[in-house]
Amino acid sequence: MELISGNEIAATIIAELKSEVATFKGRAPCLALVRVGDDPASVSYVKKKEKTAAEIGVTSRIILPPETITQTELEALIDDLNNDAGVDGILVQSPLPGDLNELAVFRRVSPEKDVDGFHTLNLGKIAQEDDTGFASCTPAGIMEMLARSDVDLRGKHVVVVGRSLIVGKPIALLALQKKAGANGTVTICHSATNDLPAITRQADVLIAAIGRPHFVTKDMVKPGAVVIDVGINRIPDETRKSGYRLVGDVDFDAVAPLTSKITPVPGGVGPMTVAMLMKNTTKAYCLSQ
Ligand code: NDP
Repeated sequence: MELISGNEIAATIIAELKSEVATFKGRAPCLALVRVGDDPASVSYVKKKEKTAAEIGVTSRIILPPETITQTELEALIDDLNNDAGVDGILVQSPLPGDLNELAVFRRVSPEKDVDGFHTLNLGKIAQEDDTGFASCTPAGIMEMLARSDVDLRGKHVVVVGRSLIVGKPIALLALQKKAGANGTVTICHSATNDLPAITRQADVLIAAIGRPHFVTKDMVKPGAVVIDVGINRIPDETRKSGYRLVGDVDFDAVAPLTSKITPVPGGVGPMTVAMLMKNTTKAYCLSQ
């Protein structure tokens, strides 16, 4: 079994981006990070994005509206960022609190600045295999980590568990593309799938994006499979100062010995997501020059 280290691959990508950004003339690329409210996970995600941006030489502009912001006010704030020539990328940290309509906010971001890849147009461009758009960061990170770990999906049965707009659907579309590294035969499973283990056991490459701790057990995995664990779940742990620890959707200890390659949690898909956000921001900057 080989561990696919997202930490290591992300560090390589970050170093590559840092060298690329150093060659840019004029102002540095700028990423606007909008975080509504104080959800603890969102606070830590935005901090990590800000820190990584600084490492690369990308300027970040942090905007922290209160939880009481209305939909109209939030959309007006996005419009201002859309119209600001000094901003290349806009990220609105998910989940939004209260009754705010997340999908409407994602659609409000100008497609040219939608470095999260959640706008309808950018999702459509994945389906059309049009590389001028932005693929959402987690799925793009998974494709990148597979490519850099010498996993070619061509002809392989790729089973995705989860059909969300930010992970399940776009990763299925990327794996399906008629492109080098992709060309997978893709099955998408979800909560209404009958006999899920019978399908996951057929996977040459199993991608778990469910949001349930240790959901994928060893009876669900074919020996020799590549397993990508997208899940980030907090479970209580009294031995930690914080009182919790992060685990994936895969029962790592039981499943890992069966696999040919597997990603850990933490240190797997998570850091790749941040690295791809920086890659998309750099791309947005280059396209706007
Ligand atoms: P969602 O809750 O939006 O989607 C979960 C999917 O899992 C749904 O499609 C749901 O099916 C499916 N599902 C839930 N229960 C079952 C079940 N019992 N059997 C089969 N399918 C099931 O989650 P996300 O896609 O946003 O995130 C998934 C996980 O990935 C979370 O842990 C999240 O924290 C993590 N994540 C990690 C990122 C990273 O950078 N590493 C980035 C984004 C997310 P249905 O559609 O039928 O409800």
